[in-house]
Amino acid sequence: MLTRAVTANPDQFVSLDARLPDSAGPKPLFGLDREALAARMAEAGEPAWRGRQLAEALYRQRLAEIEQITTLPKTLRQRLGAEGWEVGRPKIVQVFQSVDGTERYLIQGRDGEGQTVEAVWMPEGDGGESGDGSEPDRASIQADGPGEEGASRSWDRATICVSSQVGCAVNCQFCLTARLGLQRNLTAGEIAGQVVAVLDRHSVEVGRDRVNLVFMGMGEPFLNYDSFMGAVKLLVEETGLSPQRMTVSTSGIVPGIERFAQEPDNLRPKLAVSLNAPNDKIRGEIMPINGKWPIEAVLDAVRQVQLRPRERITFEYVLLGGVTDQLQHAREVARLVRRSGLPAKVNLIAWNPGPGIAYNMPAPGAVEGFRATLAAEGIPVYLRRARGRDIYAACGQLKRTVEG
Ligand code: SAH
Ligand code: SF4
Repeated sequence: MLTRAVTANPDQFVSLDARLPDSAGPKPLFGLDREALAARMAEAGEPAWRGRQLAEALYRQRLAEIEQITTLPKTLRQRLGAEGWEVGRPKIVQVFQSVDGTERYLIQGRDGEGQTVEAVWMPEGDGGESGDGSEPDRASIQADGPGEEGASRSWDRATICVSSQVGCAVNCQFCLTARLGLQRNLTAGEIAGQVVAVLDRHSVEVGRDRVNLVFMGMGEPFLNYDSFMGAVKLLVEETGLSPQRMTVSTSGIVPGIERFAQEPDNLRPKLAVSLNAPNDKIRGEIMPINGKWPIEAVLDAVRQVQLRPRERITFEYVLLGGVTDQLQHAREVARLVRRSGLPAKVNLIAWNPGPGIAYNMPAPGAVEGFRATLAAEGIPVYLRRARGRDIYAACGQLKRTVEG
C-alpha cells in the first residue's frame, strides 16, 4: 500500500445531491439539544416533552424531514413547516469510494456556508491493530460479535472519522489539512450531523452494530472545544453512542486537554495525543505548536485525565522518512512513554504523502523496525493501516481533491 496515489480515479466519484441550500432558507432543528428543542416547542405553545420527542426523532430515529416525525401531531408538523423550521441535517453531497472499502464524504453543513465538511467511513475499522485508539478487547469481540442479521452485511464493525473544523490553524508541516489554514469552526450540529448522516447511509443500528467514532478528520477539536463536546453530548445522550467507543485526537492543546480532564466519565471520549516525534527539538520542527506547549506541558495536562479502568492514552506517531523513523527515535519514544508514567500505547502511522509536502514516506522496513523496537521495549504498539489513500481519505489527507 506504499504506492503514491496523487489523483483519485474519477469513476470512484459518485455525485449525489450537490445542490446548496438557500442561505436565507429555513431554520434547522438539527444541532439543538433537548433543552433548546423544548424551548422551541414552548414558544409554539406545546408542552416541553415535545422537545424530547423531537430529539428522539432527529438523533435516534434519524428522520430527515419534519413530515416523517409522526410522533408529533400532523397539525404541529405543518405549523413548524409553515413557521420555517426544517430538520436541516447536514447532507452527504459527494461520495468517494476506495478500492479498500473506505468511503470519503463531502457533507454540506450549515445553510449559506459553501464549504463542505469531510468525514470517512472505514468498514472493518482497523481490525484490532487499529490505531484509532478505540479497538475493543478480544473478549468483547467474541462476546458481542454480529448476530444473524449482521452476517448479511458487508461489514462487521466500522469506524467513522469526522472533522471538527474546515481546515486547521495548527500548521503541522506534514499535514495537508494545514495547507488550508483555518476556514471556519464547525457547529455541534455539523459535527454530530456528519456522524448521523453516515450512520444513516449504512443503516447502522446503534446498540447492536459495532461502530467506533474518531474525531480525527480535519481540524483540531480542542480549538473548537464547545462544538466538539456539544456534538459528543448529542451523540451520547440522544443518539446512544458510547463515549468509550469514541476517541478524540489532539495535537496537544494544553488548555483544551485541561478542560477535557474535567468532563464526566459518562461523556468523555478516549484521548489520543499526536506526539509524532521523540523529543522537543524534532517535534518543534514538524509541529510549530510545540513551541507554545512542549511535550512535558502536554504530558502534565494529560496526567489530569482520570482514566477508566483499563483505559489507555494513545500516542499517535507519524513516521516521516529520515525525520522521525529511525531506530534511535523508537528507543527515545519508549523512554519518553515510560517516563510519562501514563498507561499508554503508541499508534504508528506511516506518513501519507500529499502534493507539495516535502517529506518522504518511511523506507520499506522502517515501520516494522520501529514497531519491533517499541515492542521489545515493552511498549504496546499498533500500526495504523493506511485506509483510502487512493481517494485522499487517509490521515492528514483530507481536503484537497475537493469541489472540482
Ligand atoms: N488535529 C488533530 C486531529 C486530526 S489529525 C491532531 O492533529 O491530532 C489526525 C492524525 O493524523 C494526527 O495524529 C496527525 O498527526 C496525523 N496526520 C496528519 N497528517 C498526516 C499525514 N500526512 N500522514 C499520516 N498521518 C498524518
Ligand atoms: Fe491540524 Fe491535526 Fe493537521 Fe496538525 S495534524 S495541522 S493539528 S489537522
